[in-house]
Formats: sequence, C-alpha cells, structure tokens
Amino acid sequence: MGGFLQQLRFLTPGWTDLIEIAIVFFLFYRILLFMRDTRAMRMLLGIGVVAGMYLLAVILDFAVIRTLLAALLQYGVIAALVVFQPEMRAALTRLGETRLARLLAPGPKAGVVDQLVDGALRLARAGCGAILAVQRETGLRDYAQEGSRVDALLSTELLETIFNAKSPLHDGAVIVTGDRITAAGVILPLTQNPVADRTLGTRHRAAIGLSEETDAVVIVVSEETSRISVAQHGRIETSVDERRLRHVLESAMPAGGQALAA
Ligand code: ATP
Ligand code: MG
Repeated sequence: MGGFLQQLRFLTPGWTDLIEIAIVFFLFYRILLFMRDTRAMRMLLGIGVVAGMYLLAVILDFAVIRTLLAALLQYGVIAALVVFQPEMRAALTRLGETRLARLLAPGPKAGVVDQLVDGALRLARAGCGAILAVQRETGLRDYAQEGSRVDALLSTELLETIFNAKSPLHDGAVIVTGDRITAAGVILPLTQNPVADRTLGTRHRAAIGLSEETDAVVIVVSEETSRISVAQHGRIETSVDERRLRHVLESAMPAGGQALAA
C-alpha cells in the first residue's frame, strides 16, 4: 500500500511542478492558436491519425505495420521540417519580436506610416487596385527578384503613379523596405489555405500568402470594391479604416519607423 502511495506521489505536485504545467499549457495553447486554420493544423491531424494507428499496431502486436509506421513517423518529422520551413521561419521571427527587440530598433523614420496610409487611401479613392508589402524583419529580397527593381523614396505620389492602371508596373505588388520602395510588379505567393471570404480574389490571396511566409505587413487596396485590407501573420482583416490601418502599421513598425533589418 505504501509503495502504491509512493507511486501516486505525482498527484501531489509541488509549486514548481504547477508552474511548469502552467508554462507547458501556455506554450501549447499559443502553438495551437498560431496554427489554427493553417495547413500545419491539418498536417498535425494527419500525424495524429498515423500515431493512433501506430499505437493500435503496438497493442495488437502487428510487427510489420508497426515498423512501417515508425519509419513513416520518423521521416514525417523531417518532411514536416521541410514543408513548414516558411511557417517556422515566420514563427521564429515572431519569437524575436519581443518588446526589447523593438526598443533596440533603429530610430524613427517619421512619415513612412503616413505615406503608406495616405497612399492606400488615395489609391482606394481613385479606384486603383494595389498591394503593398511592407518589410519588417524577414528580408523580402527573394520575392523582390521576381519583379522590377526600384530604388526610390516612398511617397504617396509614387504609389499612385505605379498603381495607375496604365502604368506597366501596376500589376503585382510593391515592396517597401524602410522608407524606400525597393521593387514593383512583384508576384507574391498565393496562400494554400482556404480563404473564408469568397469575394477575395488572387490579390488578397497573395497578400495572405506573403504574410504566412514572412512577418511582412501587406496592405491591399481592392480594385473591385475600393476596400482596404491588411494581412499579417497569415490572416487578413478586410475593410479597415484609416485609424485601424494606421494603428496596425504603427504597432508593426515601432515609433513609425522602419523595420529592424534594412
Ligand atoms: P480586387 O478586389 O482588386 O479585384 P482580387 O483579390 O479580386 O482583387 P484579382 O481580381 O484576382 O484579385 O486580381 C487583381 C490583380 O491582383 C491582378 O491584376 C494583379 O495585379 C494582382 N495580383 C494577382 N495575383 C497576384 C500575385 N500573386 N502577386 C501580386 N499581385 C497579384
Ligand atoms: Mg478581382
């Protein structure tokens, strides 16, 4: 009986155990929250099914099936690392986005947020479709290479010029790095995830796609509806007004300044 009670000791945890449980609980909660509605979640369900089958094979002592599933699970981990490389890069970048990192960010570049907000509003008013990818910590150079290289000071007028429907560069996205437009006519990766709002076409899917792979903030101006949307961390918020857009940009870029990496 005493031995039995000894075995049940874990039922009376000390306070450090409670703290550890709370931390693990919180981490799992954050990870699940992060993966919600993504292909990572569906993949996790798939892994769960395989793990369940493996358990069943162990219980029923099916040696061959067990060996096969064990190998599948092992390689599955490596495959997942490859498949989810963009998501993991984004997740790790977000981990680095602590308050401290923000405090250490280079000084404010006044006016970037103003130019972006003003530009988006004017484009919307003019009925021009546009997509502005604002770089933060993840470099967007790989994506920029797909488009036309530009190196110009960001301005509302330049945005209007580029996204004018008669401009050769109006198709695709503009990439904004710090206070400069570094590329235009950039084709961004479309999201592979289902998009709930069926009225959102490829432009919006491209914005979500980039925000899944990087920590960029992507502003979309719809040509069809003149609505402004903003995508970040794989989610899109549609029909944002001036205040909301400004708020999102200001929290993404500390002190209205540029992102950490140039
Ligand atoms: P809108 O509301 O402006 O019509 P939408 O989400 O319905 O946007 P589409 O009508 O499918 O999007 O595409 C409009 C434009 O979006 C295209 O002409 C092109 O300029 C741009 N676009 C489409 N795909 C991409 C992409 N992968 N990367 C960047 N821009 C894109
Ligand atoms: Mg459309």
